[in-house]
Formats: sequence, structure tokens, C-alpha cells
Amino acid sequence: MKKITSKYELKGLTSDDLSEYLESIGEPKFRGQQIYNWVYDQLIFDFNKMKNLPLSLREKLEKTSTLNSLNFTTYVKSKNSGTAKFLFSTQDEKKIETVLIPEKGRNTLCISTQVGCPLDCKFCATGLMGYKRNLTAGEIVDQYLLAAKEYGLENITNIVFMGMGEPLLNFTNTINSLKIFTDETNAGLGRNRITISTAGIAPKIIELADSGFRVKLALSLHSCFEDIRSKIMPINEKYSLESVIEALKYYAKKTKTKITFEYTMLKGINDRKEDIAALVKLSKKIPSKINIIPFNSIKHMDPGGISAELEPTSYDKIVAFAEELKSYGLTVMLRDTQGDDIAAACGQLAVKHM
Ligand code: SAH
Repeated sequence: MKKITSKYELKGLTSDDLSEYLESIGEPKFRGQQIYNWVYDQLIFDFNKMKNLPLSLREKLEKTSTLNSLNFTTYVKSKNSGTAKFLFSTQDEKKIETVLIPEKGRNTLCISTQVGCPLDCKFCATGLMGYKRNLTAGEIVDQYLLAAKEYGLENITNIVFMGMGEPLLNFTNTINSLKIFTDETNAGLGRNRITISTAGIAPKIIELADSGFRVKLALSLHSCFEDIRSKIMPINEKYSLESVIEALKYYAKKTKTKITFEYTMLKGINDRKEDIAALVKLSKKIPSKINIIPFNSIKHMDPGGISAELEPTSYDKIVAFAEELKSYGLTVMLRDTQGDDIAAACGQLAVKHM
């Protein structure tokens, strides 16, 4: 049970945990299930609207607990792609961002797991704002619930853990949110529609494989060479690519899923001939596909050091790079740059003036 300010946070609890909580405050267990249904099936977050609860209980809950893990702050919609960015604030006044990406036949919600991020990847805006804290399970789940309230539950078909932060460094809360997202008794999404993206926290990849959730896993790869990867992703010094690949093999085998390699194209750094050869070699070791991502500018953050020097690979070169990989039989997808006009594209998430 998580306390924010002085109240218990009820979002993010499974129906069993909610029932247990209700019992602990002297109420019958089934009240927990009733609240769970209001929240996850009806998107009602106000105890006073839960008409099957006695007034005395509603008053008691109002005093002791909260269903407002996050507050809706603003919402901007991209003019050219339909991508929308939500800005939410936490009870302790931290700001986080969540992005909705409409695609053919599906709508993907890109959610955050931390306020800021400790990893300091040189190409990512979130890293530049530093790390503030982990989000609670309630705050992770609430991004989905509040976006669903805006768009309709049925209109959010996929969730990717690719917003701000590193999900595997906020492991317990990420797992607790998965319990809700994959719960088949609510309007949940099921494991096939959820992807967790990691910069490569090897021991946690193993733990996730053993957790039984069998969600899809993506690795932010960006270079197959240890030295180059360490330069742009300092976490590689702690968990070498070699150790991460071993963990991913285990994950793929245990969950019977394909790993997605995310590969952001950086001019002169990872778009060379030898990068193609290395990607082909790596792809043969592990059931996988490659997601090529054009580098989105982080100039709006006014970065220093190596971050200031990073340039995108030209679009023509990206296409040729992807085609060549395909010619070796690799499965390659080229991700659109969506929402860059509202700084909602990959790696552009950072709340200004933190
Ligand atoms: N910490 C997790 C999830 C957040 S990043 C991870 O590292 O995977 C989500 C994706 O956006 C990753 O593949 C990341 O490498 C990519 N990304 C980050 N900054 C980017 C940028 N400026 N342009 C394009 N993609 C970027």
C-alpha cells in the first residue's frame, strides 16, 4: 500500500489488494471489488458517484484514501499526425508526460515510469532533465485511466513503456501496473498488447522473464559495439551489451516472444557499413526484429557535451540502411517521427523548467 500525501492511493491496487484494504478498515471484502469495477470498467474516480456504496463508506474513503494519483494538467495535439501529449501532475507537484499515438487500426499509449530518468543517454531529452523519483503503480496506471477517460477505454489498444524513465529500474511498480493492465476481469489489454522498453538492465530482464507476464520486450540498442554504446548510453558500462544479450536470449526463450531492437539513427555513429554487418550478426543470435527510429532533435533542451554534437542520419540514408538490413533477411520496421511538432516524439519527453 502506497501513501501519497496523507491518503492511501487506491489506483494501482489489484482487486484482491483493494478487497484486503477494505477489510483492513472494517468493511466487507466485496466492497473492494465494487470500487475496482467503478474505476476500471466505468472510469469513475469519485467515491461520491459510486452509488452502490453506503454513504458512510463513501465519507470514510474520502477522508482516508484517494483515487486521484495524477491530475490532468494540459493536453496538446499535433497538427500533422494526430499524436497527443498529456501533461499530468502528481500529488507532490511533479510533472510527467504521456503520449497517445494513433496508428492504422490501433492507438498506442506511451507511458512514463519515472519522473525524469537516471540513465543519461546522450540522445534523450528525458535524461537531460535528471532523475527525480519513481512513479508509484497508481501513477503508472493512472496515465492509462486518464487517457482512457479522454479517448474511451476501447480506443486505447496498446501500451508501450517508452515514455520518461527506465521501467526496469522501477521494477516493483512496473510489475504491479502489469497486474492491472493484463487483468482479464477488467477492460485490460492482455499481454500481447504491452511492450516494455529498456536500456538494458540485465538482471531485471531475467527477473521479468521469470515474473510470468510474458509481455513484449524491446531493447534500446543503438549500437552493437560496446565502446560506442557506452559513449551514448552510460548504462552500458554497468551492464555490457554482451550481458544484456545473454539476458535477452533467456527472455526470448522463456516467454517465446521476439525481442525488438530499437535503433535510433545517429549520423556517423551507428549508420556505417560495419553497423549493418554487426546488426546482421546480432540478429542471427536471437529471435528479433529491428525498429529503426529517426533521431528526433533534442535541441529544445539546449544540451551540452556530446549531446550537442549528435545529428540525425538523412532520411534517404535511413531508408537505404533499412533496405540493406532487409536484404539479409532481417525483419525491419521504420518508425515514423510522430508528434515532433509538440516535442512528443521518442526521446523528446522532458518537462521544461523542472
Ligand atoms: N528507458 C527506456 C524507455 C524510454 S526510451 C529505454 O531506454 O528503452 C524510449 C525509446 O526512445 C528508446 O528506444 C530510446 O532509445 C528512444 N529515444 C530516446 N531519445 C530519442 C531521440 N532523441 N530520438 C529518437 N529516439 C529516441
